[in-house]
Amino acid sequence: ERLFDPAAHGEEAAAERALRPDTLAEYVGQEAVREQLEIFIRAARGRGEALDHTLLFGPPGLGKTTLAHIVAHEMGASLRQSSGPVLDRPGDLAAILTNLEPHDVLFIDEIHRLSAVVEEVLYPAMEDFRIDIVIGEGPSARSIKLDLPPFTLVGATTRAGLLTSPLRDRFGIVQRLAYYPVGELTRIVERSAQRLGIAAEPEGAGEIARRARGTPRVANRLLRRVRDFAEVRADGRITATVAAEAMALLNVDRNGLDEQDRRLLEAVVHKFGGGPVGLDNLATAVGEERGTLEDVVEPYLIQEGYLMRTPRGRTATAHTYSLLGLPGQQPGAS
Ligand code: ADP
Repeated sequence: ERLFDPAAHGEEAAAERALRPDTLAEYVGQEAVREQLEIFIRAARGRGEALDHTLLFGPPGLGKTTLAHIVAHEMGASLRQSSGPVLDRPGDLAAILTNLEPHDVLFIDEIHRLSAVVEEVLYPAMEDFRIDIVIGEGPSARSIKLDLPPFTLVGATTRAGLLTSPLRDRFGIVQRLAYYPVGELTRIVERSAQRLGIAAEPEGAGEIARRARGTPRVANRLLRRVRDFAEVRADGRITATVAAEAMALLNVDRNGLDEQDRRLLEAVVHKFGGGPVGLDNLATAVGEERGTLEDVVEPYLIQEGYLMRTPRGRTATAHTYSLLGLPGQQPGAS
């Protein structure tokens, strides 16, 4: 299992539900997003309307699903959850839509992966709270129109640019989630520790936060792993030392990069002379899908200054060379 696996599975998904904040006030960080949503929600409630359709974009684990839950909770409504790849037939979407109550939130994760036919159903649903569905096939096929209650579609995607423009245009609210700074991640770790009954000193929480790749999901995951270590190898308290030792064992370096990050950077430097290298070549070299590199691995490396996107491809930076312990190479020199 990849420590930085972007998705949560099985037991972890259950653990995440237990840690999920219910209100905007409990949602740590993302100040601008929070402030705007608070105003939009309050205004919609005041008018007795559903909140405008909302598109959330940003890398996995930054709190998009959590925000959808919070919107439903703050609107006093329920949340229905699905995802682009799962909703593969128009009838599936129609069934969900016709079962919504007024002001409910329908959360569609990976919304950029909806098929074209399903998207077609979504347009009038979003715009006029109405669906046209075709029942039957051939000569006996007929189209029926159904009215829907006013609802809010919350769509999540790793990049807004992946959406078709007719779909993107139908979202009244578009918010981008950014990687969290260490201070905010520390607060998230402390909050989670408290909820899980784990004794974590502020320095211990900070040590975990620093290595969490700017991502709450990773921070919570590291916290659970460090807890195991603290219970078995120490007295259960997460101190800075315990956290650092646990992380060394987990092979997470002090920059919060994991093996996949390092493999990618090493490939750029050692196989492609520091770049520029095209994404497809890079994907082949590290045995990863192009989309995963582009949406999950690269954004953090770029933000932290370990990688540059140029028109001719990806390039290593001076930072990359010092990270890999290589002296004075000029990126792109070869
Ligand atoms: P995404 O949908 O973007 O992949 P999630 O909403 O599932 O991410 O968040 C992953 C985990 O991180 C959840 O356990 C969630 O409670 C926690 N989390 C995310 N953002 C925050 C936040 N701002 N404050 C507190 N916890 C958060």
